[in-house]
Amino acid sequence: MHDILPEDQPYFQRIFQATDEIAQFYGFEKITVPVVENIELYERGTGLGTDIVEKEMFSIKTKGGDTLALRPEFTPGIVRAYNQHGMLSWPQPVKLYTYGPLFRYENPQAGRFRQFHQIDFEVFGEQSPAIDAQIIQIFYTVLKELKFGHLIVEVNSIGDVQCRPYYKKVLANYLRPRQNALCQNCKRRMKENPLRTLDCKDEKCQRVKLQAPQIIDHLCEGCKAHFKSLLEFLDEADLPYHLDPYLVRGLDYYTKTVFEIFTDKQIQPEEGGETVLQRSALVGGGRYDNLVKILGGKDVPASGAAAGVERIVALMKERGLPPAQIPGPRVFLAQLGDLPKKKTLKLLEELRKAKINIGESLGRDSLRTQLAKADKLGVEYTLILGQREILDGTIVLRKMDTGEQETVRMEKVADELKQRLKNSK
Ligand code: AMP
Repeated sequence: MHDILPEDQPYFQRIFQATDEIAQFYGFEKITVPVVENIELYERGTGLGTDIVEKEMFSIKTKGGDTLALRPEFTPGIVRAYNQHGMLSWPQPVKLYTYGPLFRYENPQAGRFRQFHQIDFEVFGEQSPAIDAQIIQIFYTVLKELKFGHLIVEVNSIGDVQCRPYYKKVLANYLRPRQNALCQNCKRRMKENPLRTLDCKDEKCQRVKLQAPQIIDHLCEGCKAHFKSLLEFLDEADLPYHLDPYLVRGLDYYTKTVFEIFTDKQIQPEEGGETVLQRSALVGGGRYDNLVKILGGKDVPASGAAAGVERIVALMKERGLPPAQIPGPRVFLAQLGDLPKKKTLKLLEELRKAKINIGESLGRDSLRTQLAKADKLGVEYTLILGQREILDGTIVLRKMDTGEQETVRMEKVADELKQRLKNSK
């Protein structure tokens, strides 16, 4: 688990700002769900056979004997909230978004943390593929707003209860005679959920996968029509996509649409050789038409996705993409002596109310160190408050580039500064 130090905060801020703006535009409302939930929510929701639940979930035993889990993903918690608060009676679709920390007991490796952040969008109560396309568009737009180029949307359909069981059989029949060529994990997965072998990053399994039957050829009419329509929406929205017939995502609850958004990174080998493209997955999601019911609600179709914030931050830094601009102070307040120092807190607050961004160095007494700090901050003006000014009800206003100083009435100082700062913009 890692600290996010002040120098990295502007990146997070930029990502959350872009998310808020885009969410608002597309009519999504913010929800915040607890970091800790009953472990059964994820066992039933995310699924017992998934890596997230089986290997990566942090669990806690309470004094009362309950077992809780630190949330490893957002969707089950938001579905629980949808059911618990009777959102089915709200006007549908219910469009929700959130961001915050998630926890997975991962092997520490570059870019993978045990506490990390995601932004997450979910839509309930709408079965149209237009919603799947809109979610893809929203994440694509967030990444574009952050100035990412080279984005590729990978899409697939993994069918539904009508067609997936049959495809699983077809796939299992293909894998059985080849099981010795699979990794240890996939030998086991083959029996529990053969679809998961398609997800495996092991080179051996990737080779086996190349000839495997594709689910696209086995979709039922409903799923086929949904997928075709989704692709038409993506075409119309000018979203560049690529069909990946083996994209399954590691979770049990998806139905029909699954997708990921990648960005390509050019890797320059040290010794001359050709540059290679390395893909980084930033977003993953899909439709989950059965989950609301599995978690005790009605039959409500839903669709959603999440993006990994730390990974976006790492790539923004690597590519020199701009973080949030946090405006520094344009004025500095220096105080000389006990009485002026006592008056400073109140004066700072008056200037804050007047929306003047002001720096100070309350712990310092010498004018020289305070002016040095003002210089370092690059402010345009410094206010100097000494004993005499307090008695006269005035303050000294020093223009930093010329060193000119003049005295202004204390009650006029906010207006005076505002005027001058406006003129020098
Ligand atoms: P997932 O929920 O596993 O589909 O992941 C969605 C995105 O979250 C990924 O594409 C990553 O960018 C990010 N992500 C997942 N797990 C981690 C982790 N342990 N540390 C940092 N980012 C992660």
